[in-house]
Amino acid sequence: MPSDYIVIPNKELGPNEECGIIGAISNTEKELARDIYYGLFALQHRGQESAGIAVQYNESSIAYYKNMGLVSEVFSGEELSLLPKTFAGIGHVRYSTTGSSNVINAQPVVFYGRHGRVAVAHNGNIANAGVIKEKMLKAGHIFQSSVDSEVIAALINYYSSDNIVSGIRQACEELVGAYALVLISENTLYAARDPQGLKPLVIGKRDNEYFFASESCGLDAMDATMIRDVSPGEIIMIDTAGKISSSYMPKIKRRSCIFEYVYLARSDSIIDGIGVYESRYECGKQLAQLYKIDADIVAGVPDSALVSARGYSDVSGIPYVDALGKNRYVGRTFIQPTQTMRESAVKIKLSAFRNNIVNKRLILIEDSIVRGTTCKKIIRLLRQSGAKEIHMLVASPIVKYPCYFGVDMDTREQLIGAFKSEEEICKEIGADSLHYIPLSNLTAACKGTGETYCKGCFDGKYPLDVEQYYCRKESLE
Ligand code: SF4
Repeated sequence: MPSDYIVIPNKELGPNEECGIIGAISNTEKELARDIYYGLFALQHRGQESAGIAVQYNESSIAYYKNMGLVSEVFSGEELSLLPKTFAGIGHVRYSTTGSSNVINAQPVVFYGRHGRVAVAHNGNIANAGVIKEKMLKAGHIFQSSVDSEVIAALINYYSSDNIVSGIRQACEELVGAYALVLISENTLYAARDPQGLKPLVIGKRDNEYFFASESCGLDAMDATMIRDVSPGEIIMIDTAGKISSSYMPKIKRRSCIFEYVYLARSDSIIDGIGVYESRYECGKQLAQLYKIDADIVAGVPDSALVSARGYSDVSGIPYVDALGKNRYVGRTFIQPTQTMRESAVKIKLSAFRNNIVNKRLILIEDSIVRGTTCKKIIRLLRQSGAKEIHMLVASPIVKYPCYFGVDMDTREQLIGAFKSEEEICKEIGADSLHYIPLSNLTAACKGTGETYCKGCFDGKYPLDVEQYYCRKESLE
């Protein structure tokens, strides 16, 4: 009797984002850690390996807690209530693409520097982190972890002889890569976004409090109203009186990551003014206009592709059904004794809705195909559950090239599309037919022009010349 579900390690389900970050500041001391917890909970899809919160207290002290596991596991008992009331705090969820997956690499990074206690958390990948680390080692700095955040923290401190904000500015001008970061020091909250805006970051408000979040869904979870996106290359400083100062790095050239719309971001988020839901729905509509397939039903692979499947159904008139159900984040992770066990414990269970698909010719929409392993398992599951034909449509082009900016697809060898044609991929995953949306259609669905987005994993054209840094960095870890 074939099983009607499959269990997929989270690492295999699709490319993972490196991290999600939250920042919060209030004009009164309050339980901001609880707000940050809810914000992190909403960003859980951006990182499931570790979570942490740091809050400022007594003007110059910082209390923090971080551990391996999901947000609800790390803060499952008294950990949250032990964090004191505060004016300012930051939080982080992590998925490791650089640095090993253990608690020493969890964030926020808290250190004692030129201006007392500081906590910093970041999302992204610093291409020249190796070069900077070498420079800092020569200058006498010591490192505890292998994560970029510690390199960023060291560099900020190095340049903070006058004040923290000038340290952040000089450090950001030296960093090459993709990053969004939040930092607290002396009851002030800072945030910065890289000059290409590769990583998303938004700012919101609730009464006399301000919040930063990697995605607007994090603001929603904290009951904050989105004000705007942090602009590419912008550094923002907010104090407890609610005074906001903003400055900009040089050489700003927006190239935000188009993969946020394809897969990484939650469908209810808005990034750089574009609704993720709307872009995915539009991709589905365009797939229906491009590929007319004789089929009985259309379905999407949860979660990102469900919206595109609705768009396809609405244009083609082919009924939308649920073919797959998803049970998210099975298993407790941080209590597992070994790293291998911890990693394999983070799994997604996908089950087939047999009655919806039996004897049906199915159009299955997927957001992207990266390694191809999950796709193959899903198609096998759907066939075992009775689907007569499976025609696969992908709401992004073929992923042919690695990402150097913190999304977990860092070698060409990992990618099924790097060396195979559409026909060969179709055969390998076991579909009856396979088509991808062209890059120009995806860009149009995200309301961009040729210049708006980084699309490096699709066309090999990156907004930064990073390969030289990338090789050096690997050798230093
Ligand atoms: S290479 Fe792809 S995943 Fe990486 S930043 Fe560019 S668009 Fe995003």
